[in-house]
Amino acid sequence: MTNATTSRKGTAKAATTSAKRASNVKPATVLIVGAGFAGLGTAIRLQQAGIRNIVILERASAVGGTWRDNSYPGAACDIPSNLYSYSFDPNPDWSRSFSGSAEILSYIEAMVERFGLQQYIRFNQNVTDLSYDDDHGLWHASTEGGASFSGRVAVMAQGPLSNPGFPAIPGIEDFKGKTVHSAAWDHDYDFRGKRVGVIGTGASAIQIIPELAKQAGKLTVFQRTPAWVMPRPDFETPDWQKTLFRKVPASQSALRKGLYLAHESMALAVIWQSPVTRLAERLGRWHLRRQVKDRWLRRQLTPDYRIGCKRILVSNDYYPALQQPNSKLITWPIARISENGVRTVEGIEHQFDAIVYATGFEVSHSGTPFPVRGSAGRLLADDWARGAQAYKSINVAGYPNLFLTFGPNSGPGHNSALVYMESQIDYIVKGVKTILKRNLKALAVKDRAQDEYNAGIQKRLARTNWNSGCKSWYLTEDGFNATMYPGFATQYANQMSELELRDYTLITA
Ligand SMILES: Cc1cc2nc3c(=O)[nH]c(=O)nc-3n(C[C@H](O)[C@H](O)[C@H](O)COP(=O)(O)OP(=O)(O)OC[C@H]3O[C@@H](n4cnc5c(N)ncnc54)[C@H](O)[C@@H]3O)c2cc1C
Repeated sequence: MTNATTSRKGTAKAATTSAKRASNVKPATVLIVGAGFAGLGTAIRLQQAGIRNIVILERASAVGGTWRDNSYPGAACDIPSNLYSYSFDPNPDWSRSFSGSAEILSYIEAMVERFGLQQYIRFNQNVTDLSYDDDHGLWHASTEGGASFSGRVAVMAQGPLSNPGFPAIPGIEDFKGKTVHSAAWDHDYDFRGKRVGVIGTGASAIQIIPELAKQAGKLTVFQRTPAWVMPRPDFETPDWQKTLFRKVPASQSALRKGLYLAHESMALAVIWQSPVTRLAERLGRWHLRRQVKDRWLRRQLTPDYRIGCKRILVSNDYYPALQQPNSKLITWPIARISENGVRTVEGIEHQFDAIVYATGFEVSHSGTPFPVRGSAGRLLADDWARGAQAYKSINVAGYPNLFLTFGPNSGPGHNSALVYMESQIDYIVKGVKTILKRNLKALAVKDRAQDEYNAGIQKRLARTNWNSGCKSWYLTEDGFNATMYPGFATQYANQMSELELRDYTLITA
């Protein structure tokens, strides 16, 4: 007997045990994991479709996901708020074009109130296992505290970027000073006058660095790869505009449409190599030249890869912050973390009171955040061992009645995540309505449909900037891209607009 067979049998047994444990719980129609934008948006749309038997399991004690956890100084969206919000819940009162984390969190909290979502949410329920029971056509979730929940449909909305990631640098435990991760900020720690090291120069880092530069006595930034940084058109919203949006909602929809189309056009620069890519690179180089006069620093900050290959950043104050007298950019690779600070490969130890890790998130390209067991106890982590795959990013063959938000190859590189999310949510609602209307025990995507879909996606990805040779969190170590969607948001929305039943096996209850 092979190890794989042993583990399959073991998981099948675990699935049965888990199912038994939960069998006395009255099932929900839809069980949602996560009370971030995606989980809450799904509940709203289900509710609007008349489906109210919903349970949302949230591991924290509050809603908000990304915007609850990322409260570091300077945290803000980098897609304009009028597009980074739900089209079905516009907010005329955004204070600026790119709102800060606290304001986005308030929007989410107000949304929970407005749509009466509190009744569905079970806080402090960290899902540790999700298992499908073939006999009853039910999903069972076990949580850390030993509770069990079940539902006819399960929605995994636990977030693509919800678990802070630390780099694999030797000695990371040895540092005796203060360690802070950008996604778990310690607001009680006083950075004023301190010697602070920041590891990472990605999307969170470039927001934190200008704020820390105002406070720290000495700020040292460790850069592995320079990013393409674009100017940020960030303005305060004038009062007349808020009034206009409130009185004439169509004006806000028109602005949203305009922003959407502007971002769609950026796909031409970000996703594929085109004349627009070169124009965008020119803009990036102009921004750098305009803000950084020192030639050597400029060289250190100039990317040597095609724009779009890694996430493009927007900031007006990152380059100036690096040039403040108390700031220093280090491009020597880090050898190890020591008791006192960071040692770089040329042998220098940089001593710090605090190290800030702006090093992103644990992004799983092949595993799952907790064990997910499908039909006959098959384990999703086994099925995804060679790279995550799904049908239209949302269903997986062998896992009936399971829907993923931000599943494989749904990542946007150029447009608002919420635009993609709305397409996914509407698809989920269609799926749930189909299950209820036809009284299905299982709505199960066919292997063939999933394989054909993925063959097409990987073929299209091969022609994108993401797969053009640079290293990024979009790719696995061996270069497989299970993260990004290789097309316009409009194409993604079109593919999600219809639930094509010929691609599914329908098993009646
Ligand atoms: C700092 C930052 C800035 C960003 N800015 C933008 C932007 O400007 N534009 C853009 O388009 N996108 C942006 N993103 C991407 C962002 O992740 C998405 O836009 C969006 O917030 C994701 O929402 P979500 O509901 O899918 O996930 P999340 O917001 O992460 O919510 C997931 C929820 O699930 C919960 N959860 C996780 N695991 C479990 C479990 N096992 N059991 C129970 N509950 C669980 C979490 O606690 C969390 O509340 C940003 C991300 C970060 C980190």
